[in-house]
Amino acid sequence: RNQARVQAISQITNRTPKAVTMPEPLSKIWASDVFNLAKMEQCLSKNAFKAVKKTVQTGAPLDAATADVVAAAMKDWATGKGVKFFSHIFYPMTNATAEKHDGFIITNSEGHAITEFTGSLLIKGEPDGSSFPNGSLRMTNAARGYTAWDPTSPAYIMHTENGSTLMIPSVFMSWTGEALDKKIPLLRSNSALDKAGQRVLALMGETEIATLNASCGAEQEYFLIDANFAASRPDLSMAGRTLFGASPAKGQQFDDHYFAAIPERVQVFMQDLEDKLYKLGIPAKTHHNEVAPGQFEIAPYYEAANIASDHQQMMMTLLKLTAKRHGFVCLLHEKPFAGVNGSGKHVNWSVGNATQGNLLDPGSTPHDNINFLLFCGAVIRGVHLYGPLLRAVIASASNDHRLGANEAPPAILSVYLGDQLERVFNDIKEGKLLKSEVGGLMDLGLSQILKFERDPGDRNRTSPFAFTGNRFEFRAVGSSASVSGPLVAMNTMLADSLNWIADQLEVELAAGTNVAEAAIKVIKVLMEKHSNVIFGGDGYSAEWHRAAVEDRGLKNLPTTADALPYLRDEAIVKLFSSTGVFTPVELESRFEVYSEQYLLAIEVEGKLVVDMATTSIYPAAVEYLSQLTTTSSAMSSLGIKLDNSVATAVANEANAMMAAVTKLSAALAVHDFDSTEAHMQYAAGTLRSLMLEVRGHADALEGLVADDLWPLPKYAEMLFVR
Ligand code: ADP
Ligand code: MG
Repeated sequence: RNQARVQAISQITNRTPKAVTMPEPLSKIWASDVFNLAKMEQCLSKNAFKAVKKTVQTGAPLDAATADVVAAAMKDWATGKGVKFFSHIFYPMTNATAEKHDGFIITNSEGHAITEFTGSLLIKGEPDGSSFPNGSLRMTNAARGYTAWDPTSPAYIMHTENGSTLMIPSVFMSWTGEALDKKIPLLRSNSALDKAGQRVLALMGETEIATLNASCGAEQEYFLIDANFAASRPDLSMAGRTLFGASPAKGQQFDDHYFAAIPERVQVFMQDLEDKLYKLGIPAKTHHNEVAPGQFEIAPYYEAANIASDHQQMMMTLLKLTAKRHGFVCLLHEKPFAGVNGSGKHVNWSVGNATQGNLLDPGSTPHDNINFLLFCGAVIRGVHLYGPLLRAVIASASNDHRLGANEAPPAILSVYLGDQLERVFNDIKEGKLLKSEVGGLMDLGLSQILKFERDPGDRNRTSPFAFTGNRFEFRAVGSSASVSGPLVAMNTMLADSLNWIADQLEVELAAGTNVAEAAIKVIKVLMEKHSNVIFGGDGYSAEWHRAAVEDRGLKNLPTTADALPYLRDEAIVKLFSSTGVFTPVELESRFEVYSEQYLLAIEVEGKLVVDMATTSIYPAAVEYLSQLTTTSSAMSSLGIKLDNSVATAVANEANAMMAAVTKLSAALAVHDFDSTEAHMQYAAGTLRSLMLEVRGHADALEGLVADDLWPLPKYAEMLFVR
């Protein structure tokens, strides 16, 4: 075998799992690295604590004097744990996080080093934002933006091999107040949802209504492969996925990985990771093997959406960092390997408050049932009206490889309710519940009916957007994505629908209809308009792909190039500006940034394909040909004829591959397009298909060229050796 591959494998077989200390009791490590309310209570005066508690719980501004006190306490706590640096951490429009570290250190007039951290440093940071993607906002503002502490998300200490830093979760905005990040829109969408939800609940006769909040629990899938393999695959290290690789004899056909015993090295990795998460107050709850070989999942317990989103980012960072410590590379890409399942991030989402509880839980009284039906109906309307938006917020070059493949939800947005709930909504649509008015409502007994739906065995796994008993699960989200975009879209579409429902309720109530009947009437109208989006069948089937579009009028948007332009759609611009979540300029900047990212991702991949095919695959083919032909001519001098079918096949595939490489190189050089939309369509169509053409020949060569000459670690090695 190729020397690098042989070495990689022998090193891996000799690896021993990294020793981790016995896990400490949860009570001892839980949130030990988080400056939460409990810690503030210990070190602040009563008055200062009262002020900061209000800020933490409501996001209300902190007065300067209290900010100084809190900052000093925060600094003492952090320096007591060996921390010398602090950083505002923020979430630019990429899926990554950004941080700029500053020391606590200053020198005083006597030249001594002392530490200082003032309230104004805590509240506001000033990174140079000029190299963050800002889309058109770059034009309207000075390039610089500033960060501001989001007090609703607690500060924490991040430990890495390079030291420990106090992290201050922050928003990132321009000097004129435009959102340059993924946190501000999430906070705004939550307020829009709160306002609209309170309107509906008040109309439904609720007298005490607490602030509504979205909740999120995100199931994260990922691959672990040995770092030795990743190191010799430029595609994995630069694009996060394999651009070449023939299918191994054994893939996932046996389904023997799913929920099987976790390999020891991985088990040790998971324990190490979870200890880190617990220290950061991230409630990691489940972990197991996933369907593909080398694929795993981790899911935390759900939290308020803003916190869950910050925690999700930390989890992705820690997955990568911790994997490194254990000699793995953690791949968060949606489709690192062709032919086996890709990775998603199921975003479980619900909405509730302290007075009415979870409004997506049917509850136990007829009254609760009706609130539930209204909120659930609002989701149905939202997905129907804004399906293309939901598709756009999960659109990326990487997720396009997964959606609509035979394992992941299609790129058509529909809602799965489960048979029984679907029947309830259909009965309302057909007027059945209105006729027997009071009796009908009393008979609803939804919590009884819906109990059955909570059995996971009963769930439809092919739906992109499924009701799962007390929440919706957005399954089409990609594994590498921030959950913020999907949450913003869901919160905002729900706010819009709740406002529509409130408008209708007002009309009905003004006409003297009683509350329950008014609600059912509104749901009836809603179902008449939007029931087309409800689908309980097989979302993977070809028949659904046809029927969804032709019979139901739903949109099938297979690529990012098809989906992103909807961010410019009039209805969606209006949705965001009417709810105060994005101004048209802010939304336009998202379109620009995301399309640029899409184009860049495909361009990088295209260049890698050209480079790897030319400089490592072609030489391997030629080397093999040279061996074959040398042997063949030596043998023919002895009068023995060597079968030359392999040599011919290698020569043909190598020539065809290089011809495709030439076409791809030329195609990559084209940069002149009338619009971003046209450029994206070109990337999605021409560039991607040329990349596949090159790959087809390269993968054929992998099946022909002598194993010891093959330069790249093979699928079987990467997926099964650990
Ligand atoms: P499954 O794989 O069956 O979907 P998991 O237990 O792996 O279930 O993940 C379910 C996720 O949904 C967890 O993060 C869980 O905390 C979260 N979740 C449960 N209830 C709610 C809710 N009401 N709102 C939001 N998320 C929820
Ligand atoms: Mg799930």
